[in-house]
Amino acid sequence: MTQDPVVVRHPLVQHKLSLMRSKETPTALFRQLLREIGPLLLYEATRDLPLEEKEIETPICKTRAPMLSGKKLCLVPILRAGLGFVDAMLEVVPTARVGHIGLYRDPTTLAAVEYYLKLPEDIAQRLTILVDPMLATGNSATAAITRLKEFGAVPIKFVCLVAAPDGLALMRAEHPDVPIFTAAIDEKLNAHAYIVPGLGDAGDRLFGTK
Ligand code: URA
Repeated sequence: MTQDPVVVRHPLVQHKLSLMRSKETPTALFRQLLREIGPLLLYEATRDLPLEEKEIETPICKTRAPMLSGKKLCLVPILRAGLGFVDAMLEVVPTARVGHIGLYRDPTTLAAVEYYLKLPEDIAQRLTILVDPMLATGNSATAAITRLKEFGAVPIKFVCLVAAPDGLALMRAEHPDVPIFTAAIDEKLNAHAYIVPGLGDAGDRLFGTK
């Protein structure tokens, strides 16, 4: 069931990502660009949502028109950088619910340690879209998906901005059923598990904490 990651090569996405990569880009612009890219990635991730024809009445006449018919959505940002996607994505899917999962990387082992989890009660009835700008080692994303599945979340899709080969390999090994949407697949991880060339620490750049 493993699918290749979908790399969103749209020029607007690529241009905005390049601006985000630059270390000269200040916090406010970085945040704005992440907001702008989020819905464009979500657009790809929701391309296969089912539609059904419903009868409606325009001011002119009755007609049949396509409406969303499948599961409603649940967005789940991985704290904290995933938060940068959420508000703008909600503008496109305003009825989506939002869960939160907080994971930090143990600085020594790089393992994902959960410190917060709050999910909608009906998550099992929804299509869950997990969002995190950076897929580096894949430890956080795979741990988050394991937890979401424990709560019955299926199907799940994963949306990120930049992915590293290591993270993609771990996702493929642990959760081959979860499709991945990203704006770029970068070269590698460095010794501190940062993506190269990447864009640095997405959380710090988003919130101006460094
Ligand atoms: N998390 C980040 O924010 N940046 C990376 O390069 C890797 C993980």
